[in-house]
Amino acid sequence: MTEKCGVVGVALADRDVARPLYYGLYALQHRGQESAGIVTHDGFQQHSHVELGLVGDAFDEGDLESLAGAAGIGHVRYPTAGSIDTSCAQPFSVSFKSGSLGLSHNGNLVNADEIRDDLAALGHAFTSDGDTEVIAHDLARNLLEEDLIRAVKRTMQRIHGSYSLTIMHDETVMGVRDPQGNRPLCLGKLEDGYVLASESAAIDTLGGEFVRDIRPGELVVLEEDGSGFDSYQLVEAEATAHCFFEHVYFARPDSQIDGTLVYEARRRLGRKLWEESGVETDVVMPVPDSGRAFASGYADAADETTAQGEPREEDDDGVEFAEGLMKNRYVGRTFIMPTQDERERAVRLKLNPITSTVEGKTVTLIDDSIVRGTTSNQLVELLKNSGAAEVHMRIGAPPIVAPCYMGINMATRKELIASDKTIPEIGDEIGADSLAYLSPDAVAEVLETDRDDLCLGCVTGEYPYDIDGEATDRDVTRPQIGQATVDADD
Ligand code: AMP
Repeated sequence: MTEKCGVVGVALADRDVARPLYYGLYALQHRGQESAGIVTHDGFQQHSHVELGLVGDAFDEGDLESLAGAAGIGHVRYPTAGSIDTSCAQPFSVSFKSGSLGLSHNGNLVNADEIRDDLAALGHAFTSDGDTEVIAHDLARNLLEEDLIRAVKRTMQRIHGSYSLTIMHDETVMGVRDPQGNRPLCLGKLEDGYVLASESAAIDTLGGEFVRDIRPGELVVLEEDGSGFDSYQLVEAEATAHCFFEHVYFARPDSQIDGTLVYEARRRLGRKLWEESGVETDVVMPVPDSGRAFASGYADAADETTAQGEPREEDDDGVEFAEGLMKNRYVGRTFIMPTQDERERAVRLKLNPITSTVEGKTVTLIDDSIVRGTTSNQLVELLKNSGAAEVHMRIGAPPIVAPCYMGINMATRKELIASDKTIPEIGDEIGADSLAYLSPDAVAEVLETDRDDLCLGCVTGEYPYDIDGEATDRDVTRPQIGQATVDADD
């Protein structure tokens, strides 16, 4: 199960939440295009509408009107290659003896099967194989014995992995972030209420004011009348494990995550690329759109110093920034196409060279990451066929050598071009005249954080969670399921 998604939650004083949730999901569309859903509560009952497809297609006027109530949560789900499964579309909603629950989840649990088995043995029946339903059942069970806060705490002590959740229990909207804060989640203030969202761009879209990031291990409960929020630090971890790839690729550049504006982080990563592995070529160009901020930082740094780190002479024009590839905006993400043949064709559909900026030139092409190598391989060939004299690739992240278990669909180890090749071998395979990446240490430095506070699993093969068959980079052990309900008394 890979669930790289977007979540929102809204509580308002006296106005239906359906529209703010809908616009919030629109702002988070990049985080998931497979399905979109909203669950609201009107004080008496839940209303739910979940559908496959993009946000704009999933709801019509009538759907939004039927979603009554001043409290609600929403979700956009990331596509996983191949199968499309409606039973995993979210928010997950259900009514238990302990009240109605709605759950939107971004992330991925690594011990969901153990908890599902445990709960199934106690008589819980499951309708999907998703981990969100496991969290919902666990929480419902705890709510039979505990108040809301203690029940959430108990569930947090049992689930292990990555999660940013928006939860609705009857009319109460809450946000929770896993103790290591792997996925983002933030809080914003609206004129007449509060909003929780995966990214701050959703708060901006609603005309709200960014309040702060939800802290790792924190539960934030929005007041039902939209007047405020309460905070509970339920679980503490020694270090955080923020996903560095949110900054590199996944999040919108106009979002701020854990105190950093993503666009600025990408520009700084681009500057660092120039400092570490700059090459003097006629032009530098981004792979649109993922490489754009990196290329602009790289080109800025190249204006100031030479590749050897010397200040530029007055008459030295440096490296020219140019758009050399035009993107067809109407082609979706090539990465998620199920077959290699389709993926290759799709790169050509999506990107076309601008011959005048390429012909006869030496070119540096900048992207955020290489996963399977399909995009870079095709683009190097495309630029050379358009007359580029040399094509050098610079990548704003380290080589991706291992899969992501924390919710990003990164392909399997076998498919990852860097899993068994050196950087020069990858360069040869994609046909580039040279290839360079950033190191994990450079990424940590640019994000102004300790390396130990990042999740670097996909670039080191060592994870911040206890995953079967994989190495960890810290002292973590998953909870013993079947016994964890004991210690939840404060
Ligand atoms: P590939 O062609 O498989 O090497 O994929 C690299 C391209 O996909 C780059 O342009 C990235 O911006 C983009 N990319 C990287 N990670 C992902 C992901 N998890 N989902 C979709 N696209 C991605």
